[in-house]
Amino acid sequence: MSSTDLSAKMFADACSVIPGGVNSPVRAFSSVGGTPRFITSAQGCWLTDADGNRYVDLVCSWGPMILGHAHPAVVEAVQRVAADGLSFGAPTPSEAELAHEIVDRVAPVELIRLVNSGTEATMSAIRLARGYTGRAKIVKFSGCYHGHSDALLADAGSGVATLGLPSSPGVTGAAAADTIVLPYNNVPAVEEVFGRFGDEIACVITEASPGNMGTVPPLPGFNAELRRITAAHGALLILDEVMTGFRVSRAGWYGVDPVEADLFTFGKVMSGGLPAAAFGGRAEVMNRLAPLGPVYQAGTLSGNPVAMAAGLATLRAADDTVYATLDANADRLVGLIGDALAEAGVAHQIPRAGNMFSVFFGADPVTDFAAARATETWRFPSFFHGLLDAGVYPPPSAYECWFVSTALDDDAFDKIAAALPGAARAAAQATA
Ligand SMILES: *Cc1c(COP(=O)(O)O)cnc(C)c1O
Repeated sequence: MSSTDLSAKMFADACSVIPGGVNSPVRAFSSVGGTPRFITSAQGCWLTDADGNRYVDLVCSWGPMILGHAHPAVVEAVQRVAADGLSFGAPTPSEAELAHEIVDRVAPVELIRLVNSGTEATMSAIRLARGYTGRAKIVKFSGCYHGHSDALLADAGSGVATLGLPSSPGVTGAAAADTIVLPYNNVPAVEEVFGRFGDEIACVITEASPGNMGTVPPLPGFNAELRRITAAHGALLILDEVMTGFRVSRAGWYGVDPVEADLFTFGKVMSGGLPAAAFGGRAEVMNRLAPLGPVYQAGTLSGNPVAMAAGLATLRAADDTVYATLDANADRLVGLIGDALAEAGVAHQIPRAGNMFSVFFGADPVTDFAAARATETWRFPSFFHGLLDAGVYPPPSAYECWFVSTALDDDAFDKIAAALPGAARAAAQATA
């Protein structure tokens, strides 16, 4: 590989003004080591860093870029709308257009409120659930990540898992006291907690199919059981589709496993790479939001017209052909990775949730966060750097999903196929 001197210099400079040099922890490469690459441009499935190195992108901005980078329809829409002004603090036509696009795709969602990040979407959905039910307690699952609001950081996935944090200092006991954390995929644990606190629980929030402890799909019927138990106790069910929404199918995970939650949260794909997210659901619940109801929720830049343009252009392009291509690309990539790891003789598994997947080393099946943590994550840095040095950019943590785009082409797959044998051998030779 050619030099990474400029990235190293930029990282040192960033560290002088930004804690850890990054604005989201996993970007710092803490768990894999080495110099985070500073990306200066991207086109299709290729990233270019400050030193001019090119990488096949298997992160896709953590999911949003399903069409690849700088897709002409998205760039054109953003440029056209930006020329007419960036933000007005008043309603704009594109907000309802994007809301219609989402409501048309996910049947149980009748009303949508637009926000700026997935964190805001889940935080607001929790507030709404508490306001609607008049109850305080919430149930989440260990290893699920719902953004970084105080009540939801307990035993979370994503960067919290990557850095091995139980929770976070700065979250008070009071803020987390009403959060009950249960093992994922464990129906008896949910039954038990509802047996004890059933009339105090406002909601269960779960990733529709978890991707923040690595890919750990729900066992068949798990989400339906959550629906049954919450309904029986007058609690709401919130399916967090910030990662899966409009990625794994036209209707997100709902299109794969149609469980009628009361509220859904969306982000990532729905705004095509600009900052926007949403929560939505049954009208009866959503109508409790201000200005119709008493549950307050707001945002200066919410429904920003440029973000709406990127989201609309992305979703309008995301037809059945796009989802078939994403699935086919994931099949091809998983096939190559599995072959290389088998050839190198290293025990592994590649769990799938539609076109999302992750690579766990070790043979014991992973159905919850404890099992994910028990995998041979110490092999991952060698695998990661083997790929990165050969021009392929996988997620820099064993606890994250790999993301494909429609832009992966034969050149990209050739590059990946050439990179994998060395990376797989490095993983096989790694020591704990
Ligand atoms: C990314 C993610 C979030 C947080 O979204 P941000 O936009 O990073 O705040 C919440 N839930 C899930 C399932 C996510 O994957």
